[in-house]
Amino acid sequence: MSNKIQRVRGTRDLLPEDSLLFRFVEESAYEKALLYGYGEIETPIFEFSDVFHRTLGETSDVVNKETYDFTDRGGESLTLRPEGTAGVARAFISEGMMQNLPLKFYYSGPMFRYERPQKGRYRQFYQLGAECLGYDSPLADVECIAMAWDILKKIGISTECTLEINTLGDSESRAAYREALVKYFTAHQDQLSADSKMRLEKNPLRILDSKDEGDKKLNALAPKLEQYLNETSQHFFKKVLAGIEKLGIPYNVNSHLVRGLDYYCHTVFEFTTTKLGAQGTVLAGGRYDGLIETMGGPKTPGVGWAAGIDRLADLTPKELATKKEVIIAVVGADDLGEEESVKVAHEIRSRGFKTENFLSGKMQKKMQKANKIGAHYALILGGNEVTNKTVTVKNFATGEQKEISRADLATFDFK
Ligand code: ATP
Ligand code: MG
Repeated sequence: MSNKIQRVRGTRDLLPEDSLLFRFVEESAYEKALLYGYGEIETPIFEFSDVFHRTLGETSDVVNKETYDFTDRGGESLTLRPEGTAGVARAFISEGMMQNLPLKFYYSGPMFRYERPQKGRYRQFYQLGAECLGYDSPLADVECIAMAWDILKKIGISTECTLEINTLGDSESRAAYREALVKYFTAHQDQLSADSKMRLEKNPLRILDSKDEGDKKLNALAPKLEQYLNETSQHFFKKVLAGIEKLGIPYNVNSHLVRGLDYYCHTVFEFTTTKLGAQGTVLAGGRYDGLIETMGGPKTPGVGWAAGIDRLADLTPKELATKKEVIIAVVGADDLGEEESVKVAHEIRSRGFKTENFLSGKMQKKMQKANKIGAHYALILGGNEVTNKTVTVKNFATGEQKEISRADLATFDFK
């Protein structure tokens, strides 16, 4: 262990200016989620390892290489959650919520993946997400995407995001496609990466998601799922596209989009941006009709998405996240004034104003600091003011300064 105290690689300290943006993103998302009838769910940060290992699919990168697995002191195999859906599905089953369908859940919180850290990619990162359980209608996919779009709009980044959408079809279509893929990749096996050779056996669809350059070349010429979609699947996808078109949400059908996790079917989608370099996906999701059954629950359709808060916050304009509010500085001009300043600040804060009280230093310095924090008013208190039960109010916008009684201060119209 290094003897220097340091952050663990891939973690970050969210400083006040980061938190301001994070909160704005989360509050905006939560507000929209409520409008769409979602309720917040908070599942544990760790679960039995099976919850993730069985459901995310043994061939997914997340499970193969990225989970934080550990054995606790009681010998239980536990995993820090790498994503939110599996935990929500587990809660749905273990809390016996089947009788209450349809159900709509919103969540936000930290997730953990052992990845190579870089800008926009962390080992502890933050997601907010939505899961809509119980509807097999494509209209549920449409509403789910609409909610995501509304959130991106609200945080001021929708014009920088593109909706990429694709269908994986139902299980019958995927089985036919799988066969075609196995044939194609087997013929080119010698050109596949080691990871993809393994995927070829376990889940050939996953090869299409590979980031390996050699695999990517092969993928460009691989058979397309479109050719293997049965009528039900085609019909479903058409309905989804018609729905988002009706809402005026711009989209781009991207037949290369397959998504990293095993449990998706039919609709898959991502909102991407070119503004964040390589880490361009800000929100991703899809339909997962088989998931809950895989986990031992009753067959329950579901559709949902998750967004990376770190990435959303990076894009969000600071001005949007900063509240427009009156800021008041209390300035004790001498010892007596400083003593009294706490009481004055307390009164002003109880009226709901953001109030900064400079607790030490010379009056001149305090006035400079007041300016620096963008204060609209300074309330100056010296020995005279304390004796006379007054305060000097300086309006920074007009430069005007006047002494008023403490009684009048209680109702003074700050604006
Ligand atoms: P990627 O291809 O970038 O690894 P993913 O498919 O693994 O993404 P999802 O599991 O779909 O990502 O997670 C949804 C969103 O969460 C991503 O679109 C991204 O915004 C965010 N996200 C995922 N992993 C990280 C990470 N390690 N650091 C920061 N944000 C992340
Ligand atoms: Mg990933």
